[in-house]
Amino acid sequence: MNIAFASSEAFPFCKTGGLADAVGALSQEIARKENNRVVLFLPHYRNISNANSLKAIKGSFVVPIEDRLESVSLSFVNWGSVIVFFVKNAKYFDREGFYNQNNKDFEDNDERFIFFNRAVLESLKYIGFKPHIIHCNDWQTALIPAYLKTTYKTDAFFARSKTLLTVHNLAYQGHYSYKSFIKSGLGEKHYTTSGLEFYGGMNFLKGGLVYADKVNTVSPTYAKETLKSNETAHGLKDVLKHRGKDYSGIINGIDFEVWDPAMDSYLPVGYDDENYKKGKNICKNFLRKEVGLSESKTLPLVGIVSRITYQKGLDLAVHAIEQLKDKAQFVILGSGEKATQQKFKELADEYENIAVVQKLDEPMAHKIYAGSDIFLMPSRFEPCGLSQMIAMRYGSVPVVSKVGGLADTINKKNGFFVDSVDKEGILKTLREVVVTYGDKDKWDKLVVNCMQGDFSWDKSSSDYQKLYDELISKK
Ligand code: ADP
Repeated sequence: MNIAFASSEAFPFCKTGGLADAVGALSQEIARKENNRVVLFLPHYRNISNANSLKAIKGSFVVPIEDRLESVSLSFVNWGSVIVFFVKNAKYFDREGFYNQNNKDFEDNDERFIFFNRAVLESLKYIGFKPHIIHCNDWQTALIPAYLKTTYKTDAFFARSKTLLTVHNLAYQGHYSYKSFIKSGLGEKHYTTSGLEFYGGMNFLKGGLVYADKVNTVSPTYAKETLKSNETAHGLKDVLKHRGKDYSGIINGIDFEVWDPAMDSYLPVGYDDENYKKGKNICKNFLRKEVGLSESKTLPLVGIVSRITYQKGLDLAVHAIEQLKDKAQFVILGSGEKATQQKFKELADEYENIAVVQKLDEPMAHKIYAGSDIFLMPSRFEPCGLSQMIAMRYGSVPVVSKVGGLADTINKKNGFFVDSVDKEGILKTLREVVVTYGDKDKWDKLVVNCMQGDFSWDKSSSDYQKLYDELISKK
């Protein structure tokens, strides 16, 4: 089967969050299955890792945007069993950030991703890869299904192509004005409530949800929640309901090679579930030194690795952190919302047991997963969440809210659910967890259960393969 993935990010090339981890790992898993050939399309941003090993493909071609033509050139790299293609257009992608700079979204993100969607389709033709499946991810690639059902409807090249749209987060939809719709060239008759129109504008994600042959999201619980609550579905509940059996939830895994405490090159020593105590302790002191926390034999270390957005509920955790500053140490890695970031900074300036690192820092993320005892993730909603799974793999016991993928991956044996997702609820639970940390036998069982959990892609990649099989047997 020929499978083309399209995404705005994929680890290890370009990453801002879990989308990158999921697409990177899943594309490799799918490529390892018998009889599959997998290509992956990414924008050629200025800052991608492996940039030196890219090979340029000869020539260039154009795609229409509004009444103009924009040029596309391609480079590629063989990455494991996947061929990764980078779609180049300096005007759109040769910039410092992927989607924004200094916390401000680029004003032409609509145009940049309209371009990318069309460019992926034209690139497939240019390289002569006829896909059975085009696997799209999030709003940035959600117009591909719309183009296939409209502009490319009679194009013989795509006659056997089916689309799957995976929604990694319904909070991000690419909701723009009618002007964006004009730029897409999709044709007036598709600007309707049953097409791409949404509250007086154009909605990329809705377009994908309507036109993709199948749609899924990244955990069974989030799938159920979004069918029940329009708030969790961010206004798209009825569109999802309309998809009936063609909408499902498949839990993400984590890449067990990337996230492996025994082999992690960012750590001073490796450790595994059989003998984690010594190794984890060395990692903890190494982390403390690096972020400026003092050594302690009794205080547990609480880690946070997260984007700082409303979704993650970290504004609600500030209170608990301040209240428990003498009973635990805290390391917070993350940036985003200014106000919460500022509060964390003030806490770190004032109290010796609190440290912050306010940027994207992959090595630091590894060190925190390994060096922390407790991992805090009190999300208001969480489509899947990878951080709690990574934390478990490194023996850091998660304290989470019981929503979405957190509810699907955590239970009493491997973590804690916060009583209620508010200031006092988080404080109450975290206080209890800190006390439980003092019960060494109980804690040891929790850590071992976490580290032995199977959060690999084995089962989920087979579930995706089943969806692909169903799709290609569909008329
Ligand atoms: P989301 O995709 O909503 O941000 P996930 O839990 O699904 O949340 O995935 C988050 C991913 O991003 C994890 O790999 C996590 O380690 C990483 N991450 C989050 N913030 C940072 C940061 N500041 N520096 C490095 N990695 C980060």
